Amino acid sequence: MFNAILITKDNAGIQAQIQRIDEARLPDDDVTVRIDYSTINYKDGLAITGKASVVRSYPMIPGIDFAGTVEQSNHPEWKPGDAVILNGWGVGEKHWGGLAQKARVRGDWLVRLPVAFSPRQAMSIGTAGYTAMLCVLALERHGIRPRDGDILVTGANGGVGSIAIGLLAKLGYRVVASTGRTAEVDHLRALGAADIIDRAELSEPGKPLGKERWAGVVDAVGSHTLANACATTSYRGAVAACGLAQGMDFPASVAPFILRGITLYGIDSVMVPQELRRQAWDRLAADLDQSRLDAITTEIGLGDAIAAASDILAGKIRGRVVVDVNR
Ligand code: NDP
Repeated sequence: MFNAILITKDNAGIQAQIQRIDEARLPDDDVTVRIDYSTINYKDGLAITGKASVVRSYPMIPGIDFAGTVEQSNHPEWKPGDAVILNGWGVGEKHWGGLAQKARVRGDWLVRLPVAFSPRQAMSIGTAGYTAMLCVLALERHGIRPRDGDILVTGANGGVGSIAIGLLAKLGYRVVASTGRTAEVDHLRALGAADIIDRAELSEPGKPLGKERWAGVVDAVGSHTLANACATTSYRGAVAACGLAQGMDFPASVAPFILRGITLYGIDSVMVPQELRRQAWDRLAADLDQSRLDAITTEIGLGDAIAAASDILAGKIRGRVVVDVNR
């Protein structure tokens, strides 16, 4: 038996509760993992509260990421005792996930825990931080270098935003952080932001083109914010769009694309091929200032995760929440 959050759906609606679950109910896959830590990502918030149709079948254990140790394996790459992490692949959406003491998943989905990180540190980064790295890799592949100009990071106090700021600053970029929580200016500067703007500057309907301000953008917010970020990106600059905290819409014009030649990269973390995942985790190990991780991390137990799901949707969480599934 193991402890897990279980989401159920019946005539009364969607409910999430901690339950004791028989291991025999785990999915029929090739690697069983004893989980140390999972996290609360925005998508977990949507799944646990039922506010968006993230969960594809019920009952479901949520948790789109976890770090733990292989307990049993029929997969050639993994043996008992291996330290592993998992991000995405529909885990926590259509396959039982990480907000539990145990998971059984496909060995092909696992990534070896980088030696640079403890399981807790890896989950302090979690899917949000690994997605931030995917955004940074997209901007780098586009050829954007620190001398090219400022990089805008939206949703700055969130998980993606906080880690993107730290990564970009350590790589030598000048980062401008956009936030609705201007009281967090000192915190954002400590993470590496050179300048902070109020997100209200970007979140209302804007003009098709504005003053050229950004060599690149990491956007976790979507909607008007993404449209305005594109409209103010410099000639041949690039925007990496990964999130929808403001909205899923994209009320933009083609002007920045056809008059300034900007590029919009879509960033998905769920189905990314293994090679790019390993590259992202290797780069996180090399380029993330680990001393900053503690400053953006709050740790909770499994029992607190249901409340944290509502908090993340309400924008009340700063940085990352790691869940110790064994307390
Ligand atoms: P968080 O909730 O931690 O951060 C989101 C941040 O966005 C908030 O902290 C807040 O920052 C800002 N924000 C919230 N509401 C609004 C609003 N109405 N208007 C403008 N800004 C707002 O989430 P994560 O960082 O974990 O994820 C960010 C987004 O990225 C989510 O939409 C998530 O679903 C998506 N995502 C996508 C992935 C992918 O594979 N593409 C993977 C991981 C995440 P502040 O208070 O500083 O303004």
